[in-house]
Order: sequence, then structure tokens, then C-alpha cells
Amino acid sequence: MSELRRDPLLRRWVIIAPERRADLVERRLGRTHHVQEIPCPFCPGNEHMNPEEIYVARVPQTSQYPNGWAVRITPDRKPLLRVEGVVERRGVGLFDLMSATGAHELVTDTPEHDAHWADFDLQQMGRVLSSYRLRYNDLRNDRRFRHVVIMKNYGAPWSRYLHQHSHIVAMPFIPRRIDDEFIGAKDYYQLKERCVFCDALRQEEAREERIVAANDDFVALIPFASGFPFETWILPRRHMPDFGAMSDRELPALAAIFQETMAKLRTTLHDPHFSLALHSGPLNGEKAEEFHWHWELIPHLSGELGMEWATGVYFNPIAPEDAAACLRNGQPIS
Ligand SMILES: [Zn+2]
Ligand SMILES: [Zn+2]
Ligand SMILES: [Zn+2]
Repeated sequence: MSELRRDPLLRRWVIIAPERRADLVERRLGRTHHVQEIPCPFCPGNEHMNPEEIYVARVPQTSQYPNGWAVRITPDRKPLLRVEGVVERRGVGLFDLMSATGAHELVTDTPEHDAHWADFDLQQMGRVLSSYRLRYNDLRNDRRFRHVVIMKNYGAPWSRYLHQHSHIVAMPFIPRRIDDEFIGAKDYYQLKERCVFCDALRQEEAREERIVAANDDFVALIPFASGFPFETWILPRRHMPDFGAMSDRELPALAAIFQETMAKLRTTLHDPHFSLALHSGPLNGEKAEEFHWHWELIPHLSGELGMEWATGVYFNPIAPEDAAACLRNGQPIS
């Protein structure tokens, strides 16, 4: 049974999940779960293997959508956090524990087993993003949760399913990495009475050198001090602390910039594995008006993490300006 433990020195919560032990053992033995998953539980025709539906984007039946769904959201079959029960907090001596209460939903991004996001048409990309927004806004009403993260790991060795998918996880705490951003945004706002993201967007657009793609409502850029080579952020131009506040008018523009960024990434880096995460404001009416939601994406290129683990200091062998130029031009790196 999973539980949450708080590190009293680093002030962060850790999910201790013995249910995932088998995954670790399988990986060490070089066997992966997906090899065994035949037939695929996320492909059309196999819905009975994964029957409980949280949300389904229905579409007319076509050869592309043989069972009349375009996006399907189901409970993760091995959830990191469980939706049942109240959040119980207790102390054991100096240590703090919390029940692993939360939500862990699995999004089947497309009925097509291995369609890349870069190949999605804008309608399908829009359906995925609108499904995210819908679940985000639903989970925020649950008073037990303080943060919702949306993540995708494409091709990552730790990914448990081969079918194109993403995760929505609601947590009863604000993760340390996100809280650091809230604190940074608040500090900057107190000093200047302006949003650090809005200021950075204006400056980056004027200089152009770190811009990857832009449209009327969104900008994709490589951050000035990015810790990972080709780390890319997608930000709305309009100041919004909360992803759930994105309008229907803005949604197609987000779909377009995602599709364009994914296509550039795939060409430039030869179809890299990547991780993608939404950073959005806190739930529960906690105010973070200084925050500005965004997506962060890192391609998995080097796998070198010794220095980062040892010190928290990142080293990046590619200047963000050079990375942006490669992606902007859509040229394969050599
Ligand atoms: Zn499949
Ligand atoms: Zn802003
Ligand atoms: Zn962020």
C-alpha cells in the first residue's frame, strides 16, 4: 500500500509505492511490461480490458476512429495515488506521513496505437487538450487535492504502456518543484509588481533568438538558463495563473503550437524520447495570481544526471540560442 512521506530536511513529499516493485524488478531483468501486453488494452476493440470510463471524447465512427472515440480517460491500473478515502495525516516521532490519496487517470491520446503527437491533426490535438482542461477543472473541485499535474512520457524506458498515452495526477500537496516556481514568481512580483513570465515573454519576443514558434496566443521558447539541452516551454501570451482558465478561443492555438513544436522536435532530434509536464497554479482557492501556467518539455538526450543528482547543478552542452535556432529552422542536428 502506497504512502506519502515527507523529507524533513528537503521539505518534499515522496510517494513510497511498493506496488510498483514488480516493475522495477522486470526492468532490471530487461523485461518490460509492454512486451507482454498483447493485445493492447488501449486499442479500439479492447475497451473491455479497461472498462471503467472517466471521460470519453466521442466522434462519428470512421476508419480512423473505428469505435467512435477519439480520446478515452480511464483510471490508471496501477495508480500512484488512490482516489478513495480522506487525506489522513499523522506523525511518527519527527516524521510526517500522509495517506496516498489523490487521483491517477490515464489518457489514451488517440485510438491509433503509435501515432506521434506531431502526426495528430489539429482537431485531434485540440480534443486531447480540451480533455485535459475538462479533467483539470473537474479535479479542482475535489477539496482533498492541492495540485494537478498532467504529464506525458514518450518512449521513456520507464513508461509502462506502448500505446500513446498521458497521465493526469491530482495530489493532496503542492510538489516542491512547483512550489519553488510559485515562490520565485511571488518574489519577482513583490519586487516589480509584474509577472516574471509576462516580462520574460516580452523580452524574448523582442530578441527572437530563443523563440522556437509563436502564434497569436502562445509562444514556444527555450528558457534563458535551461538545465536540459533543447528544453522547451510553451506559454500563453495572456496572463493566466491557471490552465483551467484557458478559453475555447485560445485552445486551437495551443493545439497548433504543440503540433508545430512536436514536429520540429522530431525532425531536429531524430524522434527523441521526451517528457512533458503542465505547470499550473494551486487548487483549492489558494491564490497564486503572480503565477503563469506553462508546459515544460525535455527531450531525453544525454541521460547524464550525476552532477544534477549530486548538487542540483545542471549542465547543458547546448546554448539555448543554438537549440532554438535548430528547432526554429527544423534542421536535423549533426
Ligand atoms: Zn494500442
Ligand atoms: Zn504572466
Ligand atoms: Zn514550470
